[in-house]
Amino acid sequence: MTGPRRRRGPTLALPTPNPPQRAEDFGARLVAWFEREAMDRPWRRTSDPYRIWVAEVLLQQTRVEQALPYYERFLDRFPTLADLARAPLGRVLKAWEGAGYYRRARLLHAAARQVRDLHQGKLPSDAEELERLPGFGPYTSRSVAALAFGRRVVALDANALRVLARVFLLNPEGPALSSPIEERGLAALGDRPPRAFNEALMELGQRFCTARAPRCPDCPVAEVCRARRELPQPGDFPPRKARGRRPRVEAAVGILLEGDRLLMGRRPEHGLLGGLWEFPGGKLEDGETPERAVVREFREETGRRIRVLRRLGIVEHDYSHFHSTLHVFLLGARGTATSSTKEGRSWRWVPWKEVGSLALPGATRKMLPWVEREIGAPPRRAASGKRSRAPRRPQDA
Ligand code: SF4
Repeated sequence: MTGPRRRRGPTLALPTPNPPQRAEDFGARLVAWFEREAMDRPWRRTSDPYRIWVAEVLLQQTRVEQALPYYERFLDRFPTLADLARAPLGRVLKAWEGAGYYRRARLLHAAARQVRDLHQGKLPSDAEELERLPGFGPYTSRSVAALAFGRRVVALDANALRVLARVFLLNPEGPALSSPIEERGLAALGDRPPRAFNEALMELGQRFCTARAPRCPDCPVAEVCRARRELPQPGDFPPRKARGRRPRVEAAVGILLEGDRLLMGRRPEHGLLGGLWEFPGGKLEDGETPERAVVREFREETGRRIRVLRRLGIVEHDYSHFHSTLHVFLLGARGTATSSTKEGRSWRWVPWKEVGSLALPGATRKMLPWVEREIGAPPRRAASGKRSRAPRRPQDA
């Protein structure tokens, strides 16, 4: 037996939160804005994949304005991928000096050699193949594939992720490349030029949709942005993860002069600041004073017994994962030394006038004005053409 049939009302389809039209509108507005108002950048004036790749690597942890002189200088020294592959690592690190995060330069160099040896000197055009090269993570491989080879992929750096998260009101959790965010990005890309779309996404994130204070009233995609329409404070989305404080490392560093020569060592190639030159020194042990630490470290590292002549000062320096406080001392030799190595490091007397040609970590460069004063030599010119200044503010290594 069947009961009375219930009458059905008209079916009400709830609007989907992100209908395909939103992606279409967003993509169209984004690219139209970019074609009108893109900033002029040297890496946008080239179609050379190598030059585009260098820019992408440099821009990963460096702001655009800071990156510009380093980009020009690096390409001046290594105009082609073949030039970079041929160069010894020390020259590459020297050309990178000041740009910080030297791991990027080491990987750039290793990848150039791999491209020369395995790909006949030409960068692969496919994102998956690029990802097999040293230093090519999901972001870099996609950005190079899209910008240099027009591949239909979306490169999701922090800027692009933030913009897409806000426009489509999606929280970027989980692996970014399989997330709904990437799907929305691809839908917005549609059949638009991949280079313009990806560059536009990054530039919108830098100029308008900044992490803490987005400029929504001026934003060219404001009309299609859900965060703008639905949230009281678009800048609070996506929620930021609480950041722990960087650990602090305290160390002592010794500068030993012999005439106008300094005792310096080159760090092992693999690891933090690999291949860069520095003065001997190391971390303070529990309860140890900086003076005692420098004497102990110097003996352990170089085999030399020294005495502390005087304290030169303190260098504060930020690295990506920790902050260091370096107590710097001028030393005098005690007796003769046996040449010694530690952790694969060798020590050599470097004439003062040659120090400028070595690749130095940022913290070591901050100590050079003290050496200048001791030696009484004319001010050293840094490779960037800027004069070394007495330490003041922390800087990336
Ligand atoms: S409207 Fe505001 S939140 Fe939305 S994309 Fe533009 S700047 Fe970002």
